Amino acid sequence: MPVKKTRTSKTAAKPAGLLERLAAGPVICAEGYLFEFERRGYLQAGAYVPEVVLEHPELVEGLHRDFVHAGSDVVEAFTYYAHRAKLKMVGREKDLARINRAALSIARKVARSTGTLLAGDICNTSIYALDDTASHKQARRTFDEQIGWAVDAGVDFIVGETYSWGSEALLALAAIKRSGKPAVMTLSVPREGRMRDGWTLTETAKRLQDGGADVVGLNCARGPATTLPLVREVRSAVTCHVAALPVPYRTTPAEPTFQSLTDPHGNPDGRPFPTALDPFLCSRYEIAEFGKEAFNLGARYLGVCCGAGPHHIRSLAEALGRRPPASRYSPDMSKHILFGSDKRLRQDYLEYARRNYRPAAPASG
Ligand SMILES: [Zn+2]
Repeated sequence: MPVKKTRTSKTAAKPAGLLERLAAGPVICAEGYLFEFERRGYLQAGAYVPEVVLEHPELVEGLHRDFVHAGSDVVEAFTYYAHRAKLKMVGREKDLARINRAALSIARKVARSTGTLLAGDICNTSIYALDDTASHKQARRTFDEQIGWAVDAGVDFIVGETYSWGSEALLALAAIKRSGKPAVMTLSVPREGRMRDGWTLTETAKRLQDGGADVVGLNCARGPATTLPLVREVRSAVTCHVAALPVPYRTTPAEPTFQSLTDPHGNPDGRPFPTALDPFLCSRYEIAEFGKEAFNLGARYLGVCCGAGPHHIRSLAEALGRRPPASRYSPDMSKHILFGSDKRLRQDYLEYARRNYRPAAPASG
């Protein structure tokens, strides 16, 4: 059972909390740390344990700062899969407390110095099964210990994410509620369109709301195209705030999750997930479109999960009417040497581009 602690901030005025911010408008939360650090070569695809937190804390701090610069209102501590079962997979169970405390301390430093919200993070335990009661006990222990460290770090709220078992999400929610912190619960709906317990999304969302979740929604697994219809479903099932944080990949009704995508090219595993998804990556403009549509459907807690880069977060923020610091460098193609329009550019370059890159365009007068 985690010990509830309160801390007084040494820094200036406390920023508005999650619920106040949600009441005022959308809240953006960047996710996807595992994929980004895997691409950069600081953790391993497969086990996906956030070892970079211990080996290179400065890089984790840097990525938090990149996401805040791009418009994230939340610094989510990188404790995803920093739990007992996953650490065991890489022989580092002894580092359990150290990795959680380190991740929370890094996130806290960034959140408190930027006026953003600090979120603790728990996730699917990877050992839970509905008919295995021993696994429920293990899951409870996993949630309680990670939440205890998050509370010690003074988090503003706690995210419980990527649950494909509705019943596991309920256990996680109960643990968060015991801490007294606001709870954001996001589900990863499997390919079949139902939770692994057979529960419908509507039923699961309602149970989470009844369990006291402050925000209920979806994250990971599905791209924008196959997340949006589910956002509509959650929005009509609950009266609390709704979350939508898809992966930035072009999923389809036939292949609705990034695990189910197929591609005949360039994937030694026989499927693009997880290390050959590059050809499916959404552009920043597709993420902007997603942000507008999700907002119009009534989702207020918005972000992008595995695969996201800061450019996606900036586009999402701009689509919601924000101008984060990174917007200073948002594209301005008028200055491009081939496709620009600026009078200072060499006009023969622009002519060359018109001849060679836009042969179908009618000649301008
Ligand atoms: Zn994800």
